[in-house]
Amino acid sequence: TKPLLRKPEWLKINLATGQDYENMKELKQMMRSKTLHTVCEEAKCPNIHECWANRTATFMILGDICTRACRFCAVKSGLPTELDLAEPERVAEAAEQMGLRHCVVTSVARDDLADGGASIFAATIRAIRKRLPMCSVEVLIPDFMGSEDSLRTVLEAKPDILNHNIETVERLSDRVRSKAKYRRSLELLARSKSIAPNIPTKSSIMVGVGETWDEILQTMDDLRAVDCDIMTIGQYLQPTKNHLRVEKYYAPEEFAELKAEGMKRGFKHVESGPLVRSSYHAHEQVNSARGV
Ligand code: SF4
Ligand code: SF4
Repeated sequence: TKPLLRKPEWLKINLATGQDYENMKELKQMMRSKTLHTVCEEAKCPNIHECWANRTATFMILGDICTRACRFCAVKSGLPTELDLAEPERVAEAAEQMGLRHCVVTSVARDDLADGGASIFAATIRAIRKRLPMCSVEVLIPDFMGSEDSLRTVLEAKPDILNHNIETVERLSDRVRSKAKYRRSLELLARSKSIAPNIPTKSSIMVGVGETWDEILQTMDDLRAVDCDIMTIGQYLQPTKNHLRVEKYYAPEEFAELKAEGMKRGFKHVESGPLVRSSYHAHEQVNSARGV
């Protein structure tokens, strides 16, 4: 087997100190007291200090056990048992306490539920709107096994951004993702545009899992062909040694080049960089997608 690649300098980040650290500790305790999960914490996202200070956070609803097992993802997989109907309200309370300006709501894939959890997504959007009318709400949804009804349920609650990740290029899709299909993800984004043309759509890929440069460009073309408005591109990092290995670390200049390629293709906003995650600088993305 090939040796593991060394992590380059640009992926090392500074940890919070002093007041920042205290603020962070307090927020984390608040999450525990409400039994809420954030991707920011669980994925050990390197941007947590910057995002939380800028009043952006990503909540993971519908529990922390996923019915799928993607090879890049650190979320536990198994059969979830609970459905917490009070969760939308607690997410809204937490968002209010954090004074969020942009709130991302995502979930594990709940293939065990009849609607895949769509009604809880919708209830969460409405609960946040009620408490924080100025806060933009982005949903990062699973594919609901291709259900149009579930997608409609979410869109009826009028999120500011409908985000669904395509994750990787077509050739690697079946190997990297579990159960999700490249074409089904494109179809979801296309459908969203036809049901709710005014809601901007967004999708992300992680690079470094073995794709070629041309395949990334092809994925951009495929996303533009379904009129996707926003794209984010970030470096894949291997969460544990049992996960898919990193095949390449892209240099910051390559990410800049990818951003330029994306903008050339007509995306309204492209975030591309080593530490970019789906929700990184999401607040700015809302504004550019609306043409602000
Ligand atoms: Fe949280 Fe997303 Fe920011 Fe990471 S990029 S800290 S997951 S909001
Ligand atoms: Fe992780 Fe989402 Fe895949 Fe579940 S469906 S394993 S949460 S990436």
